[in-house]
Amino acid sequence: MTNRRVLLKNRPVGEPKPTDFEVVESPVPTPKDGEILVRTVWLSLDPYMRGRMNDVKSYTAPVELGQPMVGGTVGEVVESRDAAFRPGDFVLSYGGWQAYHVAKSGGARVGPFGPLKLDPKAAPISTALGILGMPGMTAYVGLYDIGQPKPGETVVVSAAAGAVGSVVGQLAKIRGCRTVGIASSREKCEHVLKDLDFDACVSYRVPELGTVLRDACPNGIDVYFDNVGGDVLKAVLKNVNPFARIPLCGIISQYNATEMPPGPNLAPVLVNRVTIRGFIVSDHADRMPQFLADCSRWLREGKLKYREDIVEGLEKAPEAFIGLLRGRNLGKMLVKVGEDRTRR
Ligand code: NDP
Repeated sequence: MTNRRVLLKNRPVGEPKPTDFEVVESPVPTPKDGEILVRTVWLSLDPYMRGRMNDVKSYTAPVELGQPMVGGTVGEVVESRDAAFRPGDFVLSYGGWQAYHVAKSGGARVGPFGPLKLDPKAAPISTALGILGMPGMTAYVGLYDIGQPKPGETVVVSAAAGAVGSVVGQLAKIRGCRTVGIASSREKCEHVLKDLDFDACVSYRVPELGTVLRDACPNGIDVYFDNVGGDVLKAVLKNVNPFARIPLCGIISQYNATEMPPGPNLAPVLVNRVTIRGFIVSDHADRMPQFLADCSRWLREGKLKYREDIVEGLEKAPEAFIGLLRGRNLGKMLVKVGEDRTRR
């Protein structure tokens, strides 16, 4: 058996290019005692991976040049030297951009990454990388614990059609809030309105986003779940209510920036006594059981919906990742690396 891996070849300057990556073949690794060999079925592509390509201090170490890109995966156990797993089991693990990997219980983790055994009968296994995985949990913790929305309040979320944002809006509806999405295109806004039942959705590609948001949020904004930062945050700040909360989840508008843009005017934060709090989902692992219990139930009851944007083939991962940062995805971005026997 031969492994295929996508290595980080160069540290991108600005937007990543396909030539910053290299697809190589190598022998399949052999598991040692306590380890499992996993055949990757699904690879998750997430915006945080752009940060891992830079050699800068962050909350985790960068990917070394010449090493496979990191990433959450769902796969099938091929060989097990861990009594807790058997060949044929499906697992969530942190296998990275490669066709096979060795995983170890208690090994490297990002947030809710195992190896964790999955029950294909409970939910499609790919949801462990999306609505029932790290992005879903980010929405849950960021909105409920940090945003603390109350029924009747107005919740606004950016990147609303994406993996995290689409869940944030639906969780806000479940809490009884008015939910307003922000996304780039009409197609994305229509999806958010029609399929996900948001109350309103506006495009940020307008000359006066502040005014458009004021019309979409007649009672002002109580919670802004920020996935993008930059000009969108500036426009939201013109409309915040006193004591608004802003869970600062991501700043994707700056991930490819080569220098930091001038900051927003924070005067409204002061006069409105707004709380802005950054958070990283992996610090909230204790919330995993409650998140899984609630969101699995809401998924079964049809209160939560999700969409996946799937590309086929590991070698497509670089192009798909570049597209993710450009907003080409609609829903959770996944790479199908190998056959999913549960979807036959
Ligand atoms: P998405 O599925 O939402 O995909 C990214 C989306 O970002 C794109 O589809 C695009 O949508 C939008 N986008 C890209 N560039 C810009 C821009 N310049 N201005 C505004 N929007 C832009 O990704 P995720 O849901 O996985 O991640 C969303 C955010 O959450 C990211 O910032 C990510 O880093 C963050 N995150 C943070 C975590 C944490 O622990 N704090 C954990 C997980 C994610 P559009 O077409 O609408 O522009």
